[in-house]
Amino acid sequence: MVPKSRPTRRPSAGSKRFISEKAERFTESVIRDMTRQAHLYGAINLAQGFPDFPAPAEIKRAAQQAIAADVNQYAITWGAKSFRQAIAAKMKKWQGLEIDPEVEITVCCGSTEAMIASLLAITNAGDEIVIFEPFYENYGPDAILSDARPRFVTLHPPADPAGEWRFDEHELRAAFGPQTKAIILNTPNNPTGKVFTRAELEFIRELCLEFGALAITDEIYEHILYDGARHISIAALDGMRERTITINGMSKTYSVTGWRVGWAVASPALTNAIRKVHDFLTVGAPAPLQEAGATALGLSDPYYQELAAAYRVRRDRLLPALQQAGFKTFIPRGAYYIMTDISPFGFPDDVSFAQHLVRDIGVASVPGSSFYSRPELGAHQVRFAFCKTDATLDEAGRRLLKARSR
Ligand code: GLN
Repeated sequence: MVPKSRPTRRPSAGSKRFISEKAERFTESVIRDMTRQAHLYGAINLAQGFPDFPAPAEIKRAAQQAIAADVNQYAITWGAKSFRQAIAAKMKKWQGLEIDPEVEITVCCGSTEAMIASLLAITNAGDEIVIFEPFYENYGPDAILSDARPRFVTLHPPADPAGEWRFDEHELRAAFGPQTKAIILNTPNNPTGKVFTRAELEFIRELCLEFGALAITDEIYEHILYDGARHISIAALDGMRERTITINGMSKTYSVTGWRVGWAVASPALTNAIRKVHDFLTVGAPAPLQEAGATALGLSDPYYQELAAAYRVRRDRLLPALQQAGFKTFIPRGAYYIMTDISPFGFPDDVSFAQHLVRDIGVASVPGSSFYSRPELGAHQVRFAFCKTDATLDEAGRRLLKARSR
C-alpha cells in the first residue's frame, strides 16, 4: 500500500512572527542614529562620543608594524598574552590590584562586547540588575538580551549646576532584593560626568555584600578626570575583588573608538564563563590591534596627565559656549560629555529640540530621554560630546548661538 502523502501544512501568511520578542523590545541606538542624522544634514557631530582628532602616532605605528609582521590571524580567543600582561600591569600600577592575566582577563571587541558577554555569562531569566539612570544607552538592551530585569535608580541632578549628581541611599537600597544578581556602575559616568566617591562606592559595596550581588563596573573613562576628581575602582575595596567584573577598553584612553578592543577582568570562575560566551559571540578581538594595545598600555604617566589636561581645556571651551547660547549646564568631573538642561528654550521635549539643532542649527546632540527608562525624566535634557578639536567646538558654539526659543 502506498501511503497517502500528508498535505504539507503551510502557515497562513502573517501567522508566524519572524522578529524575536527581544528584538522588538528595544529601538536602535539613538546615539548612532544621531550620527547618521549629522551626516544627512551636514551637521557638526557632538552626539556620538568619538574624537575627531588623530590617535597617538606611536600606537598607530605599533598597529601598522603588527600587520606588516603578519600578526593577522586569530589571537587566542580570550586575548593575546602580551596584551593581557599589559592590562594586568596597568591595573597593578593604577589600582594596586594583582590580576592573573592567565585566568582573570577576557579581551573582547570593545567594552560593549565585554558588557554583554559578562551579562550573558552571569544572568538567568528573572535575575535583577540594578542600573543608575541616566545610563549609557547600551545597558537597557543589554539587560533585555540577557533576560535580566533592570531595576533603575535615579541619579538626581544637582540644583546648583556646579554641584554633583547624587543617588538617594534609600532609593538604592530599595532596588536591591533577593533576586539582585548585579549592579552596573559607570564611573566616570556617561552621560552625567559624575565620578563616584569612595563613600558612595563603599555604600554600594555594603549592599553588594548584604545581598550577595556582583558589581559590574564600566571604567572606560578612568583617565578623563577634572578638578582633582580621583577614579576609584570598586574592585579595590575590601571584599569586592572576587565579586566585581571590571570593564575597560582602548577606545577613550587612546582615542581609537573604531578599533573595538576592550576587556573584562573578573575572578577565574566568572572569567571562565565570560570567556565561553565571548568565544561563541566573536571568537576574538582584532589580533594586530591587541599588539598595538600592549604598546599603548605601556605609555608612561605624562601621556595620561596630558590626556586629562587636554580634555579639561575642551570642556572649558564648550561649557561657556553652551551657557552663552542659553543652556543650563551640569559641570562634568569626568568623561567627555556635558549634560544640559534645555528648559530655557521652552521646547515641548528633548527630541523636538535635538531635531531643531541638527536640522536648522547644524549641531547634532543626543536627546536626554535616550538615557532614561522613563523618557519623561530626560525630556528637558540633551547631551553634548566635547571630544573634538578646538575648531569643531568653536564652530558648534557659533552655530548654537542661533538656537531659538519657543
Ligand atoms: N560611548 C560613546 C557615546 O556615548 C559612543 C557610543 C557608541 O556609539 N558606541 O556616545
